[in-house]
Amino acid sequence: MSAKGNYEAVIGLEVHAEMLTDSKMFCGCRVVDSVEAAPNTAVCPVCLGMPGMLPVINSRAIDYALRVALALNCEVQLHNIFARKNYFYPDLPKAYQISQYELPLARHGWLDIELPDGDVKRIRIRRVHMEEDTGKLTHLETGGSLVDYNRSGVPLLEIVTEPDVRSGEEARIFTSNVRQILRYLGVNSGDMEKGVLRVEPNISIRPLGSYILGTRTELKNLNSFRALADGTDFEIKRQSAVLDAGEEVVQETRGWHDTRRVTFSQRVKEEADDYRYFAEPDLPPLQLDEIWIEEIKAALPELPGAKIRRYRETLGLSNYDAGVLAEDRLVAEFFDAAVDAGGDPKTMANWMINDLFALMNEHKQSIDQVNVSPAGLVELGELVAGQSVNSSTAVKVLAEMYTTGQTPGAIVARRGLAQISDEAELAKIVTQILSDHPSEVADYEAGNEKLKGWFVGQVMRATRGQANPTLVNQLLDEQLAA
Ligand code: ADP
Ligand code: ZN
Ligand code: MG
Repeated sequence: MSAKGNYEAVIGLEVHAEMLTDSKMFCGCRVVDSVEAAPNTAVCPVCLGMPGMLPVINSRAIDYALRVALALNCEVQLHNIFARKNYFYPDLPKAYQISQYELPLARHGWLDIELPDGDVKRIRIRRVHMEEDTGKLTHLETGGSLVDYNRSGVPLLEIVTEPDVRSGEEARIFTSNVRQILRYLGVNSGDMEKGVLRVEPNISIRPLGSYILGTRTELKNLNSFRALADGTDFEIKRQSAVLDAGEEVVQETRGWHDTRRVTFSQRVKEEADDYRYFAEPDLPPLQLDEIWIEEIKAALPELPGAKIRRYRETLGLSNYDAGVLAEDRLVAEFFDAAVDAGGDPKTMANWMINDLFALMNEHKQSIDQVNVSPAGLVELGELVAGQSVNSSTAVKVLAEMYTTGQTPGAIVARRGLAQISDEAELAKIVTQILSDHPSEVADYEAGNEKLKGWFVGQVMRATRGQANPTLVNQLLDEQLAA
């Protein structure tokens, strides 16, 4: 919206995800970390585009691409063609990129995203196809450019949506859901800063109520979710101002300036680029086996959206807790294992989110590195439920489970941490505390009821936090009333 016109934003996203295969798309070169590996150390005549070299398709890349296509509810096409996309640029040694054009791997999918107000919105997926990444150029301030071909030929997946997105926030949510799916499927690390996941929004605006698409701009070099949301919103405002001024939006590619937080023109596209696509003559058509696809489908894990829904609706977790636990697949599987072993979902969730995560943070460890097992967490829950330890002691036991790897039962026995539920023993302690603090007792009797909590605290201190709190409260009530 703007001062004058009442506009609607129309946005289609192109997501490029490098696939975490061991080797490249069409040669045996290793896929290496683009930041850490020395430049041009993972290259060969195929990915350097030497004449006469023949590509061979990496079947692991097809497996990965199929996982994503199926997770995004696409129709997979059995008959696939690779195409040459021709253009000259120094990051492309062959002067063409092997991609897919007319017969992509998959089409007509969708992904439901949840908006901040709780509404669910379906974003349609137009196509998912496979291609190879280009090299990486570094432009020097002193003039000239450096090229690193380590990335040349890395398997790349392109996911293209229909123009169903309406704001920077929706673009961010969609992309973050796709990222989470890619990570669940083990296809991509999701590291936007390293550029292994890149998103380019195509943005136009139109008068509210119109069904005609306006002229679009395409936004590049967004390397964080914040840049994606802010860059998209900036572009919507900019285009609104252009139309309000009675001018026309120019179809172009624009860049995002991350420090000035504005978009700027990079390349004006007067008409569609002519890439002179044609079928790749060095690769046969790729005919996929239906049984293989069914196997991949059957092996898909429960995806994050479904997990969050199940945590909320079946296990009764809050929206926040469900989201935090489902964020990382290994964390979610730890939680699932604890619940499967009989753990109470809310207790398990609380301990994981409040205590286990804090310990992991402190020790800089991820869930697959910790000593605590889901079964250990369940056993701790049983000790609390059976009143063998109280819940504040349980937190201490968990910390010790974390550092020693011992079971909670063993820790409680060795350190004498069992909850004190012996009424006679506790009654003696309560009596002692009340007689040690006559003026507080007098204050309490004069109406200062807050002192009750203070007395509880004294008893806890005297028992190193091990007293049964229900019993302490009951005994205090009895003795203070006497
Ligand atoms: P190209 O081949 O130039 O990248 P496509 O037609 O394949 O263009 O579209 C790419 C993306 O742009 C898709 O996500 C599509 O939904 C989106 N898109 C196309 N036209 C518009 C438009 N006028 N406004 C907003 N998004 C658009
Ligand atoms: Zn190679
Ligand atoms: Mg495009």
